[in-house]
Amino acid sequence: MCFVKRVINCSRRSPFATIGQLVAHLRLLERKSVKGHVRCPCGSGRRLRDCHAELVRKQRVRVPPRLARRMLVRIAEELRRIRGTG
Ligand SMILES: [Zn+2]
Repeated sequence: MCFVKRVINCSRRSPFATIGQLVAHLRLLERKSVKGHVRCPCGSGRRLRDCHAELVRKQRVRVPPRLARRMLVRIAEELRRIRGTG
């Protein structure tokens, strides 16, 4: 998980501090295009364009869809390992 957080630059103060928010964020990054009316992954309940649109736009430059998908797979594997069901 540290690896994933490091790659997308999630700090303790980041709005994507929890795993659920991180996964929601990566799900946006793995898309070919992101619409402004989708719900912001930070959990505020606001639309992306009224919330963290700028952050997501910057992340999309750094993290291409393929990398985001890889990170989602890695998170899923790590969660299975932690829960001992994998
Ligand atoms: Zn937000």
